[in-house]
Amino acid sequence: MTNSEVMTDPGDCLFCKIAAGEIPADIILSTDSVLAFRDIAPTAPTHALVIPRKHYADADQVAIHEPLLLAEMVRLAGQVAQLDGLVGYRLVSNKGAIAGQSVFHAHLHVLGGRVLHWPAG
Ligand code: AMP
Repeated sequence: MTNSEVMTDPGDCLFCKIAAGEIPADIILSTDSVLAFRDIAPTAPTHALVIPRKHYADADQVAIHEPLLLAEMVRLAGQVAQLDGLVGYRLVSNKGAIAGQSVFHAHLHVLGGRVLHWPAG
């Protein structure tokens, strides 16, 4: 069994609880299906997370099951960047613990407000 299979119980999911308003977050934008909020440990002046309200383990799963929902996440990320006045930004989606995923509810990181070096570590 993989990590993402072990850690996808929506009943015990941090981001499901944020989406439900059960855990506070610094919410930037919200629609019926998608939510954007500030990362609690920012790594750039803008570091937001965009999540679907519905639980999926990662962005792949959103793409497979609801491709338009993934498009909505990307659209909202662009709105966050616009609100923060970013001229450019990076979208990151970590899949699996080996890639740095620590919360197993799909999310896009929106990073910007400083020079972002490449390749990522
Ligand atoms: P990842 O490591 O790609 O799964 O990203 C998870 C992100 O969630 C990390 O950047 C954490 O800093 C962030 N995070 C964890 N808990 C919270 C929280 N309560 N509110 C906002 N961001 C959080």
